[in-house]
Amino acid sequence: MHKQQLANMAGLIRTNIGDGKLKRTYLDNAATTPVRSEVLEAMLPYFTQKFGNASTIYSYGREAKEALEESRKNVAQLIGANTEEIFFTSGGTESDNWALRGAVSANVKKGKHVITSSVEHHAVLYTCRDLEKQGFKITYLPVDKDGLINVKDVADAITDETILVSIMHANNEIGTIQPINEIAKIIKQKNPEIIFHTDAVQTAGKIPVNVNNLGVDLLSMSAHKIYGPKGVGALYIRKGTRIAPFMTGGAQESSRRAGTENIAGIVGFGKAAELAECEQQEQYERLTLLRDRLMQGILNTIPYTRLNGHPTLRLPHNVNISFEFIEGESILLNLDMKGICASSGSACTSGSLDPSHVLLAIGLPHEIAHGSLRLTLGRENSEEDVDYVLEVLPSIINKLRQMSPLFAKRKEQPKNV
Ligand code: PLP
Repeated sequence: MHKQQLANMAGLIRTNIGDGKLKRTYLDNAATTPVRSEVLEAMLPYFTQKFGNASTIYSYGREAKEALEESRKNVAQLIGANTEEIFFTSGGTESDNWALRGAVSANVKKGKHVITSSVEHHAVLYTCRDLEKQGFKITYLPVDKDGLINVKDVADAITDETILVSIMHANNEIGTIQPINEIAKIIKQKNPEIIFHTDAVQTAGKIPVNVNNLGVDLLSMSAHKIYGPKGVGALYIRKGTRIAPFMTGGAQESSRRAGTENIAGIVGFGKAAELAECEQQEQYERLTLLRDRLMQGILNTIPYTRLNGHPTLRLPHNVNISFEFIEGESILLNLDMKGICASSGSACTSGSLDPSHVLLAIGLPHEIAHGSLRLTLGRENSEEDVDYVLEVLPSIINKLRQMSPLFAKRKEQPKNV
């Protein structure tokens, strides 16, 4: 396909999510990102001309295998790992499941205690709940008001029975970055045999991620957060780490993750990783400026607001703010009418009335957690997008508050109450 056509295709995916009449402002890059045109271009031949099964010995197979290994190199390089320590999976969820289930299964004879945090992604939290049902004891560490784990809490939670610690690198909702390296040091000082896993789905390719600097044994990644395709991820497994396979079957991935490899997807991941590595520093600086402009713009102009997540130890693209007296869902709907795609801190859309476990864990009362908005920037956002949000959001919030009985009640209260 012609290069320009490819770029146009990627552009269409980016901007014409709806009917094309309203300019779309996509600010939900923590949920997913569009596939870059360079990534799509790299992937396309592997659906058609280069369709071989990487386990076969003839030319088609060798071609696929070569592409697989080239991608492994790129992904390894992004996180400072050795190539043979990267295992491709179907995404961040599988990587998290494999890390937890595989590590406990291979080490159950040493103990049945796992430590994690109360703000992990559901891929970790629900897996832990499942492990509890299987007889494992799980400690869910609390976080402070900014979403940070206290390193001493990790040390205090370790027992003779502890076999695994899983703490995410940065939180997908509030953007707080955990002191992974300090946590690793404490764990290894206490017992070098304890396996340390981190979910780096939101950080790899966004902020510096180096498995040796972090001191982790297992690390989860996902392609679709860095302009790669959905349904592809990787688990980093430090050489020598005891972990059982999660998918059993064929001998793919050195007999550790069975299943015919998704070559096109993996090639896309490899390309996305290569590009992310080249552009990471530049994007980090650019997005930090945009994030701060958006954050300060909202906090300075709209009353009764609160920043969620750490003010500085946070992802360069994450803004999460609570607006008192209103519901996040209604903010989302009103933003959508203005062409802005964002995310809220409540799970109403998934059929539950409970607010996010992360917002509750940082101590927000239910009603404030319900009024939260997450805006996550990406490489395609500009100052213009930020200014557009700053232009439309105050009147949306004001309109919703005028309809809110809670806000009316608030105004009627004497000032000193
Ligand atoms: N972990 C974190 C922190 C995430 O943000 C996500 C996705 O949002 C996942 C895991 C799951 O990744 P995937 O969508 O690739 O299964």
